[in-house]
Amino acid sequence: MKTPLNVETTLRELAASGNTVNCYIYDTTEMRTKIAHLTEIMPAGVEVFYAMKANPHAAFLAAALKADAKGIEIASLGEAEKAVAAGFDPSRLIYTGPGKSPEELSWAVENGIRTVHIESLTEAHRLNAIAERAGKTQDVLLRINADFDIHEAQTTFSGGSKKFGVDEEKLADILPQILALTSLNFRGLHVYAASGVLNVDDLLKNCELVFGMARQIETDFPAVLCDIIDFGGGFGVDYLESDHDFNPQAYADGLQALIERYGYQGRTFFLELGRYLAADSGWFCTEILDIKDSRGKKQVICAGGINHFRRPAALAINHPLAIVKLNRPALFDGQESIRKEAVYFGGPLCTGADKLANNVYVESADIGDIGVFGLAGAYGLTMSNMEFLSHERPDEIVLS
Ligand SMILES: *Cc1c(COP(=O)(O)O)cnc(C)c1O
Repeated sequence: MKTPLNVETTLRELAASGNTVNCYIYDTTEMRTKIAHLTEIMPAGVEVFYAMKANPHAAFLAAALKADAKGIEIASLGEAEKAVAAGFDPSRLIYTGPGKSPEELSWAVENGIRTVHIESLTEAHRLNAIAERAGKTQDVLLRINADFDIHEAQTTFSGGSKKFGVDEEKLADILPQILALTSLNFRGLHVYAASGVLNVDDLLKNCELVFGMARQIETDFPAVLCDIIDFGGGFGVDYLESDHDFNPQAYADGLQALIERYGYQGRTFFLELGRYLAADSGWFCTEILDIKDSRGKKQVICAGGINHFRRPAALAINHPLAIVKLNRPALFDGQESIRKEAVYFGGPLCTGADKLANNVYVESADIGDIGVFGLAGAYGLTMSNMEFLSHERPDEIVLS
């Protein structure tokens, strides 16, 4: 990875101020480009939503608004409030997630959000009672735990015993009960197979199986139309820099072919994308405070660790890493440095779990330089252990 020039310039300015550098830098240009591109190439009927749990920062919501994303996929009342504050009308919100509280469901109904994605029979009954009391009808999708999974994915949401949705094989029993709830308006299916998928064919396989499921439902229940089909998120990014970027055009072409094969023109298809839209719009930048040799391997200690960037530890991976060289004077003769070697990067926390990168090859790094971790715009600060050890919260600097 190369540090983008505007990120590097910002870091040099921050370093010149004399404070320890430890921050996220955001530039949402790429996110806006991606939303516009997807909107252009996807088949008619496909609507692109930003799944804001990837990064709930106002800059990312503003980018989604500016790029004309169809709306925001929320998973809590807190996210709903942030999306509305960013300028999204509640009618542009769609709501997924197991365990929505009565308060959250009431907010959704009262404010007229577009669709609530039902995760269980309990939730269907709870939402129906709330809508009935409010004198409203709520559009819903039914989330299904499909009977397959995508093996190469980082995280799977379907297949096996899962807390998401209702098992596919229970549909015949559960669907009629949901259809009988008169304050719910059944609009279709939500099947989110997996996250972080780079292989387009795997995701298209998911689409095909979901289309098959819709067809089966419409055969078994002739009064039902699955007018909206939600494929969830899942477009991956190439964390390993292995030249295997997700190919959205191939996905669009494959989906178009499937839509034609099934005769599903005129239907609506939701994509709820988080990682793919947000990842390359953010960098976690943290100053190297110490470098030591420990039994033949260099240990690099940075100002921020899993308290600010937990993902590499949580998923046992390395993110792309670049070093911004500041050429600061050594504190003493014989100070350790890194030259063309594979090293360990950790943070300041008093736990062995505090890993930022392991066995990562570095050309050159010295104490006082800044480690820049790429693809940190998605699932960065938002899924980190911010309170752990009570370090100061990193700044989030928005360039664009
Ligand atoms: C997390 C999540 C997404 C976004 O997933 P990505 O892999 O980041 O695209 C979309 N929909 C739901 C329901 C989610 O939980």
